[in-house]
Amino acid sequence: MKPRFHALKGVEDILPPDTYLWRDIERKAMQAFGPCGFEEIKIPIIEHTELFLRSIGETTDIVEKEMYTFTDKGGRSVTLRPEGTAPVVRAYVEHNLATRPSPQKFFYRGPMFRYERPQKGRQRQFYQIGVEAFGVAEPGIDAEVIAMLIDFLEKAGLSSSLSLELNSIGCDVCRPDYKAKLREYFGGRLSELCPDCARRFEQNPLRILDCKVERCAALKQDAPLITDSLCEACRTHFDELKNLLGNLGIDYKLNPRMVRGLDYYTRTTFEVTTNLLGAQNAVAAGGRYDKLVEEFGGPPTPAIGFAAGTERLAALLQSTLKAPSPSLFIATLGAEASREALKMAVSLRRKGIWTEIGYGGASLKSQLRKADRTGAVYVFIIGEDELRERKAKWKNLKDGSSGEVRLEDAEGFIQNAGQRLA
Ligand SMILES: [Zn+2]
Ligand SMILES: [Zn+2]
Repeated sequence: MKPRFHALKGVEDILPPDTYLWRDIERKAMQAFGPCGFEEIKIPIIEHTELFLRSIGETTDIVEKEMYTFTDKGGRSVTLRPEGTAPVVRAYVEHNLATRPSPQKFFYRGPMFRYERPQKGRQRQFYQIGVEAFGVAEPGIDAEVIAMLIDFLEKAGLSSSLSLELNSIGCDVCRPDYKAKLREYFGGRLSELCPDCARRFEQNPLRILDCKVERCAALKQDAPLITDSLCEACRTHFDELKNLLGNLGIDYKLNPRMVRGLDYYTRTTFEVTTNLLGAQNAVAAGGRYDKLVEEFGGPPTPAIGFAAGTERLAALLQSTLKAPSPSLFIATLGAEASREALKMAVSLRRKGIWTEIGYGGASLKSQLRKADRTGAVYVFIIGEDELRERKAKWKNLKDGSSGEVRLEDAEGFIQNAGQRLA
């Protein structure tokens, strides 16, 4: 018995025709990001573990439970990236991008890794399309980035089912007060919290607010709201952002309980959610991280970004999938006709016309069945008689029409047919 290998749990193959949909989603993202000045950055899949500990935060679910961390052959602790922001910030600092004209704006796409329980729309290897904008402190860039996200999702074909949730989670100045209020509130209820939250209570009580355990969720219903603790500067920033979104005609819902599961966020946080996949699910989320560049040893640099989950977008857009099919299938009888078909196919393919050949020495009937299964629009039939007369029989499998064409005119025939179809 030979072993039959299968992919790891939570790690999926994305097959055609779905890959057309994925490619389309990425194309729509670039169409939306390009005019906003976002340029592509390619970041490594693997980083020093410390990078994520220092940015995402040691008390977060991601760092405590979900990272693919291992020791490499050089004895270093390395981690498969669970998100894209920390690597982009690392690159920004490492390459002194702060010395380039501001703002520096990047997008990235690719797989991320989190050891979670796999479920529909949530895999252990999952794909994100994300953006990061560095160097602007004003709320204008928050509004820009959110408007760009909405534009992307609308271009991709989503809109009616989406809802934008908005919050501010304060800054270094006001968050200590808020944490004190949380400790006061949860302090009398410590025994009711899940063990993780009880442990996180001292170090980072904010994490209790995004705990997924049911009894913690119930407990936080009456917890103090961050938006009641914002300092003057954070409040002004948040108010102005709301004004700007209003001006842009972008609807939003305030959600003062949304803190996001990453420690690096400051001020603005947002999520775009949909209820189309069952429970209310985020399809994209992001926020400001005004301290992270400094935390990584760079100059003080405000920044904001978001990431969208490609699996979820693909699931939502499944009905829009339009996979292309061959323009032409050449069915042949005999070795001589096969050679003619290959010559014709190579020539047509150079002109960008998808052409398939009926290999396998099969009967004409089985080749025509195969042509039908590929979704080909036209079939050419070249047998010995046709070859002798230098012509091919053609059939349009979509409308049933048929006829004959001289071999020397065959390429032009298909090219013209393609123009008629387009
Ligand atoms: Zn503040
Ligand atoms: Zn909890």
